[in-house]
Amino acid sequence: MSELRWHPFLEQWVITATHRQDRTFLPPKDYCPLCPTQPGGFPTEVPKDHYDIVVFENKFPSLRRNPSEPSVLPTSISLVEPAYGCCEVVLYSPEHGGTLATMPLNRIGNLIRVWQDRYEELGAHSKIKYVFIFENKGEAVGVTLHHPHGQIYAFSYIPPTVEKELGAAKRYYEQHQNCLFCATLAEEYQDGRRIVFEGERFVAFIPFFARYPYEVYLAPKKHLASMAEFTAEDRRDLALV
Ligand SMILES: [Zn+2]
Ligand SMILES: [Zn+2]
Repeated sequence: MSELRWHPFLEQWVITATHRQDRTFLPPKDYCPLCPTQPGGFPTEVPKDHYDIVVFENKFPSLRRNPSEPSVLPTSISLVEPAYGCCEVVLYSPEHGGTLATMPLNRIGNLIRVWQDRYEELGAHSKIKYVFIFENKGEAVGVTLHHPHGQIYAFSYIPPTVEKELGAAKRYYEQHQNCLFCATLAEEYQDGRRIVFEGERFVAFIPFFARYPYEVYLAPKKHLASMAEFTAEDRRDLALV
């Protein structure tokens, strides 16, 4: 179980796990819970012997559609809310090995279509304010399952970094009557030195203000409000980029 606790110094919500749920089964060695279930084999998260792309709700979610009431009462400083939201897992492929980069383009295109579908459906709930689609990679960040997969978190609030970006975009628009992201991309084009790869509709670049080595942004060349606007051609080109 978890709840949202207010951080009064940073003025942001923190998802706090209040009880740990222990896994109830001990899987065999070399068992992957994300592979298709083999006939007669130990059951996995997917009770089929084949699949293409699968989305399911995380079994141990930090955010829930029916969250329990917080374990503590709020005070004037320590606000607390039920951890409403949704956590989903996306399996990119039935193949245990490989990564997004080694998959055929049509599979990546289909995966983008799945992301769009989840973005639209989860985002349509009145209480959901932000849908975050992401992939953690590497044991250094705690990834224990190597099967190619990503995650989706649907939040009942806008995470602080995104809220800051939205505020900056709004202020820029008020001052310049132009989209901040399109203007940034236009400057990158003008400079040209940090363009990594250019497709027909999407471009990969290292931003002028990159904070980490290998930090790369992907952006559509034309102004789009969200991924819900991607067309089939957009998906094909984004898969390539
Ligand atoms: Zn696997
Ligand atoms: Zn724009």
